[in-house]
Amino acid sequence: MRIEVLGCSGGIGDGRHTTSFLVDDDILLDAGSGVTQLSRQALARIDHVLLTHSHLDHILSLPLLLDSVAGERAHPLTLHAIPEVLEILKDHLFNWRIWPDFSRIPSAEAPFLRYAPLAVGQPLRLGAREFTAIEAHHVVPATGYLLRGGAGSLLFSGDTDSHDALWEAAARAEDLRHLVVECSFENAQANIAHAARHYHPASLAADLARLRPGPEVWISHLKPGGEAGILAELAAATTRPVEALRQGQALEI
Ligand SMILES: [Zn+2]
Ligand SMILES: [Zn+2]
Repeated sequence: MRIEVLGCSGGIGDGRHTTSFLVDDDILLDAGSGVTQLSRQALARIDHVLLTHSHLDHILSLPLLLDSVAGERAHPLTLHAIPEVLEILKDHLFNWRIWPDFSRIPSAEAPFLRYAPLAVGQPLRLGAREFTAIEAHHVVPATGYLLRGGAGSLLFSGDTDSHDALWEAAARAEDLRHLVVECSFENAQANIAHAARHYHPASLAADLARLRPGPEVWISHLKPGGEAGILAELAAATTRPVEALRQGQALEI
């Protein structure tokens, strides 16, 4: 299982793209602006999109992806997320006002888009690959995901601030090779991080102490322009080696 980072920034500018991972060539985990870099051929191969939550930086490519290639596909694209996230998208995005309801185009019987509700903790198997939604703590209904391939697992926090379920999931995954965890703001913006329910270096460093040695730690969702400051504050607050996740990088499990 190959996980390519199409985007992992908290924003855009100077080539930055927002959260999206391409899993092998047929699955997207979140659909931020990173997806816009793919060729039309690559876009047409996407059969499944898994979403962590409904915030724009994680979904913005999805409406345009459907519009660009759905007509050339033989099967509907399946959108997986917890029911609360799917309801928000139906009510506020695919509602004919912001974008057409692709679950009824070209017809309700054979649509371009199919909704597939996920239950937290219940593994979804796609071929030999397994995806399990894990709880997150954000300002809207949200999850992270545990991805399991043939050679181990990767835990993605999604957008979240401090909460036990993430670290309990990390402890339970004995084959954990990678933890991708967000850290959006510098310590000076702790009040914004708290209000928007994101990690900042002090809160993440405290939680990282709970992670056993072994798994590699990758930081994502850094606010544009704040990257160096966030990483320096993290390095000062934890002895755990951490690295910024890089756009274009691929992780294997
Ligand atoms: Zn968010
Ligand atoms: Zn976000």
